[in-house]
Amino acid sequence: MKLMILSRKGSLYSTRRLRESAKLSGLDCRVVDPLACSILVEAGGARIFKGGTDLKSVDAVIPRVGVYAARHGIALIRAFNDLGIPTLNPWHAIECAKDKLACLQALARAGLPVPTTVITRSPKDIPRALDAIGGAPAILKLVRGTQGTGVMVADSPQAVRSTTDALWSLGEDVLLQRFITESRGRDLRVLVIGGTAVAAMRRHACEGEFRSNIHRGGVGEAVTLSRALERLAVQAARVVGLEVAGVDLLESNDGPLVLEVNSSPGFQGLEEATGIDIAGAIVEHAVKAVGERKKLCVSGPSR
Ligand code: ADP
Ligand code: MG
Repeated sequence: MKLMILSRKGSLYSTRRLRESAKLSGLDCRVVDPLACSILVEAGGARIFKGGTDLKSVDAVIPRVGVYAARHGIALIRAFNDLGIPTLNPWHAIECAKDKLACLQALARAGLPVPTTVITRSPKDIPRALDAIGGAPAILKLVRGTQGTGVMVADSPQAVRSTTDALWSLGEDVLLQRFITESRGRDLRVLVIGGTAVAAMRRHACEGEFRSNIHRGGVGEAVTLSRALERLAVQAARVVGLEVAGVDLLESNDGPLVLEVNSSPGFQGLEEATGIDIAGAIVEHAVKAVGERKKLCVSGPSR
């Protein structure tokens, strides 16, 4: 089986671990930079090139698409899906997960608990928005952002107004979100693979920081989730359509909330905190996806 990992750098921890696991499983595995790939769109389909090579003879793709050049990355994954090549995750799920607002809308539509959030472009509506989210301090978020960048806290209505003005003038959309103060600096990261919560940790932010991302200096501690939290994380991944998902949950006084769902979750912190072989589990799921697709091709789709 030929596996391709789409990643900017083979030396990144999660990419390196995925490649090691694939090799251990006896797979033919290559790391390819998405920005080195071109897509040819023509009537009847697409072709994908890297230099002079046509990349059609691959059985499965594990994309690791960051915020940088996400549009190109998603187009590439769409092209692989157009060619019938399974990708972990499918393009439409990645597109949804990369947009924090679309993701929250999908979760809310499915009835899952999310922090109250407002999107507005109207300065006049800021007081009403603040009322809806419980006032200041409030969280402001860029629609696209990861590893804690683009997540801010505004301590007063004035800070909310000046920050939104500044971001709007730069052409950015900004979300106003209730600050779940009781879980300040703490959240749960759950890794869901193929509908199962395979690992979870509680992340604690470093001193003076409200964001618990490992990239912002947060520290992870392994936790055993309740069945209810497991179910919530699995439902969140399913609603967005992700086979592999890093689900962030906040523990609020009114119960757990789904903060966001990540489509290319880094798993260094989670492997270190839990000792669980996440890379192996992702590769195993890719092998399963290819097997299922082959079975479907032999038997034909059910009617
Ligand atoms: P990113 O994609 O950058 O990880 P998140 O929405 O997950 O963005 O936010 C980053 C971190 O900021 C979270 O892990 C959490 O610790 C903190 N945070 C974000 N939103 C809230 C909120 N509404 N209330 C409390 N803490 C929050
Ligand atoms: Mg997050």
